[in-house]
Order: sequence, then C-alpha cells, then structure tokens
Amino acid sequence: MVAEGAEVARDPCGGGSSSVDCDEAVRQLYSYLDGELTEERRLQISVHLDRCGPCAEATDFEGELRAVIASRCRDHVPEDLLARIAQAIDEEQRRHSGAS
Ligand SMILES: [Zn+2]
Repeated sequence: MVAEGAEVARDPCGGGSSSVDCDEAVRQLYSYLDGELTEERRLQISVHLDRCGPCAEATDFEGELRAVIASRCRDHVPEDLLARIAQAIDEEQRRHSGAS
C-alpha cells in the first residue's frame, strides 16, 4: 500500500512564484507610479507594498514628490526653463561686463 497524502512542500507566504521581493518592487516603482505596468504586475507590486512597510513608504514618498512636481509645473515656470533663462541672463551680463 502506498501512503496517501505525502507531505507537499508549501510556500509559507502563500505567494508562490507570483510574489515580488523588495529589489523587484523598488525596480518597478517608477513604472508602477507611471502606470506603465500590466494589471497583473501592478497587483503583484501592490501586494508587496501591503506587506512591506519600507517599500510602501518609499512608494508614498515618490508618489507625493511626483504630485508636488506635477502641480508646480502646472502653476509655475518649469525648472529647466528657469535654468535656461538664468543662463541667458548670465551670458548677457558676462558679455556686457567684458565689453566695457
Ligand atoms: Zn519590500
């Protein structure tokens, strides 16, 4: 007779191959925030964020940062334009001080 119910090794987390580790979550963070991931991938990341405090905090932080940047770009002059203006003024001043 063969003994039935041989012990089957089970993943203690229950996540199996679909679970995402911290490395993977961080690597996919930007794609996740940008909404560039597939539905399945998004779900996997969000499951990890549910269980993992540090990764959830990092995602929150990046998300807020993006929201701030996005709202500033809408209300104010973009930073790269300001930098170009500052550079143009700087060049203009250098030209003037060199000419006199
Ligand atoms: Zn994590």
